[in-house]
Amino acid sequence: MIAEEALVVATSLRKTYPIYGGTFIKRRTGTVHAVDDVSFAIRRGETLGLVGESGCGKSTTGRLLMRLIEPDGGSVRFDGVEMTTLDRRRLNEERRRIQLMFQDPSSAFNPRMRVGQIVSEPMRLAGAPDRAQRARVAELLPLVGLTEEQAERFPHQFSGGQRQRIGIARALALRPEMIVCDEPVSALDVSIQAQVVNLLQDLQQQFGLTYLFISHDLRVVRHIADRVAVMYLGRIVELAPKAELYGSPQHPYTRMLLSAVPKTKPGATRTPTAAAGEAGPAPGGRQGCLFAPRCPHVMPRCRDEIPAFRPVADRHSAACHLLG
Ligand code: SF4
Repeated sequence: MIAEEALVVATSLRKTYPIYGGTFIKRRTGTVHAVDDVSFAIRRGETLGLVGESGCGKSTTGRLLMRLIEPDGGSVRFDGVEMTTLDRRRLNEERRRIQLMFQDPSSAFNPRMRVGQIVSEPMRLAGAPDRAQRARVAELLPLVGLTEEQAERFPHQFSGGQRQRIGIARALALRPEMIVCDEPVSALDVSIQAQVVNLLQDLQQQFGLTYLFISHDLRVVRHIADRVAVMYLGRIVELAPKAELYGSPQHPYTRMLLSAVPKTKPGATRTPTAAAGEAGPAPGGRQGCLFAPRCPHVMPRCRDEIPAFRPVADRHSAACHLLG
């Protein structure tokens, strides 16, 4: 993808966290590389799926895009504006254009606030007059499949799927161009998952929204994404259009994830990692391929040389020594 077509371009993003240990005196004993040299671009109106096991850095990547956490290095350009160097006032302005949707919206809702107040809160914080807030709530609730009258109720009076609809309405309040959807349907039943995913797709069509859709569930991502990036221990190891990635996966980790997706009834609770061990810190640190301890094709060079992220087909790239 050429960068000019993109709404958002992330380049060499990095985020580390210190690990502290010691029995009597706490001291720094190591570093977690949550996001390690991550680069990608998302076109306007596109959905990029970001998949990987729990703890691989997907959610951190989403928050780095919005600068909800500060990167240690790298760049995020949103519609041509470099986000990492903006001052607080300009950052708040740009952030209105990118909103975040959580797995469990209730955790972000004040239980004492009515739904109308929850949905309009971003507008209130942005200084919008009361009348404009009320008008927007009346517009948004029917858009997400709720009724205007439900604005007077409290969040606990709604089901999980309805609360996610409230979360979507709130995310739309400031008319954003992009939404970072962080595991938005993981806590929902399968039938409800499909309804929420369909709603997100309808809203994308209607408003030309751009999504970064973060999920550990490859079946959900297959339904909604245009392209998919696979993350492992902080690095993107494969990125391709959806049909390419699911039809012709190139990286051994992607193949492992796909082979572990239950072929039985959609919605079974087994996770993609169940058949294949768990991701964990790479023995020997960050040199070489981080997937080497679990890879059935590991070669001596895999333990020393970081595999380059290189094109393997049109718009399809992967990082593995087997590929060149
Ligand atoms: Fe496996 Fe080596 Fe490829 Fe890593 S670089 S995925 S260890 S073959």
